[in-house]
Amino acid sequence: MNNDKLEIKSEGIRRSDKACLCNEKAKLITGSLSLSIFSSKIAVHQVPHYFCDQCKRTYFDSATDIDVVLKRAYHLGLSEIDYIAGRSQFTYKVELLNDLKLSIEQVLINNTDIASGEEFAVVQNNQVIVGFREEECFIIEKVIDKVI
Ligand SMILES: [Zn+2]
Repeated sequence: MNNDKLEIKSEGIRRSDKACLCNEKAKLITGSLSLSIFSSKIAVHQVPHYFCDQCKRTYFDSATDIDVVLKRAYHLGLSEIDYIAGRSQFTYKVELLNDLKLSIEQVLINNTDIASGEEFAVVQNNQVIVGFREEECFIIEKVIDKVI
């Protein structure tokens, strides 16, 4: 999977630098950062951000969706996460509430029986989650309510 291509497709092309508050230029780099969410510290790897060598400030542009990645890591109980995987590991072909998405992700990420290239149907509470795994990504095709 070509991550560079994916990123350009979903975010457009970023500027290579931005004006920093100290009047220097913050340069676009990709690397690991330790970030806080609620009371947790989470290491995010391979995250694009602007860094100023002069004053050490860090900036994200809005397309980075850093809060989405941090929330996902937090809800999954992870202390580190890869930015690209954290952003694109789950694809939904159905409209679902965020709470349901998070619980589905938790079930899938803990289910080591699902191999890449394989279809799956996982039972969770009164629902069956149907989808397909491709490398590290899960494509959720439908969620069926179980009739007892
Ligand atoms: Zn600066």
